[in-house]
Amino acid sequence: MSISQLARSISASSTLALDDKARILRERGEPVISLGIGEPKNKTPITAILSSSAKLSEGNVKYTPPDGTPSLKKAIIRYTEENYNRIVEPENIIVSTGAKQSIYNAIVSIINPQDEVILLAPYWVSYPEIVKLAYGIPVIVTPEDGSFKPRFKEIERAVTPYTKAIIVNSPNNPSGIVYSDELLSDIVEMCEKKNIYLIADDIYHKIVFDGKKATPAYSFTKRDIESTMVLVVNGVSKLYGMTGFRIGWITANKKHVEVMCNIQSQITSGTSVLLQAAAEGALTGMQSVVENLRLTFENNRNVIMQELRTFNDVKVIEPEGAFYCMPDFRAYTNNSVELANHILNKALVVTIPGIDFGMEGHLRLSFAGSIKDIISAVERIKWSLDPNSPNEIFIGDRKYIRDWL
Ligand code: PMP
Repeated sequence: MSISQLARSISASSTLALDDKARILRERGEPVISLGIGEPKNKTPITAILSSSAKLSEGNVKYTPPDGTPSLKKAIIRYTEENYNRIVEPENIIVSTGAKQSIYNAIVSIINPQDEVILLAPYWVSYPEIVKLAYGIPVIVTPEDGSFKPRFKEIERAVTPYTKAIIVNSPNNPSGIVYSDELLSDIVEMCEKKNIYLIADDIYHKIVFDGKKATPAYSFTKRDIESTMVLVVNGVSKLYGMTGFRIGWITANKKHVEVMCNIQSQITSGTSVLLQAAAEGALTGMQSVVENLRLTFENNRNVIMQELRTFNDVKVIEPEGAFYCMPDFRAYTNNSVELANHILNKALVVTIPGIDFGMEGHLRLSFAGSIKDIISAVERIKWSLDPNSPNEIFIGDRKYIRDWL
């Protein structure tokens, strides 16, 4: 078998690898709890189901325009106006198979081989790999003060003549941190001065806690949609818990959308009409779904923080949004892959190693699941790491042995 250099440079997602391991354990009857994958547990909003099933009943499921159906675009235009206070036209939008493909389209359409894309650690796992798929170089900025909030000076220092884009994700996966208005406005100003694209991954923008709001980077540009360097990415996966529908979109200037459309039309073509209809149903339906999810996550955040604070040696920065937190386990080990494997093998809890997000010694814990699972999972993690806990525990009627520390 001959594998290309490019393919060899792409890492497998450890989220998926650990989830796979967990699936095998589950199939063996082991009571595994997952704090791994970031997936809300809600049922699909009814308006999404009705809209999609109406399309299916018509029995006319054919190709769609590569940039999205006109009626979904109409819903996205309204969404953009309501949430960003900006008027965009249908030609400023391209709908894709998940926000992941939107980000891929953006990167592939703007960078040449060896161009640099600045990523702010901790960053979402797929960003560096998507940059590498376009033969670009991910340049990681890690906050020097050990926080999850980079300082503008640190970002400015990473800019070179090869910098083509910066990706900003606030609220952030994996830290749950919301970047300050000051930081975002400084980044936007610098990007527009230096002709660097700012890819604002706003996929969690409505999931913010404690009565706060995440100001979108897009609100800091004084330019209109045709001249701004800010590209805005959104989708239905997290907003409505519609991860399986695979609908995301990006707004950009018309020429740029045309270019991304050329790329997409040669790879996946337009996303399924059934799934676009579902996204349209969600966007135009009752928005209390979003607020209910947000409240659930805020409550889950409070529970997981309360549980994590009972660890003596684990430091955790409180998430301000999204549904992840990233405790610092360096008092136990600096090897997060070994730690995640230990916790899965011994305590049957799936966590994600921080190294995948550019934060070694940390684990990412998703609190999108049930309160019961969150409490038991943290209890089990604590047992698996605490040298003073008994060496054996029973989970259900099975005995588990902790023999690592
Ligand atoms: N950006 C971030 C920060 C994410 O966490 C995710 C999903 N985990 C995505 C983009 C991709 O979302 P989608 O399911 O729409 O592809």
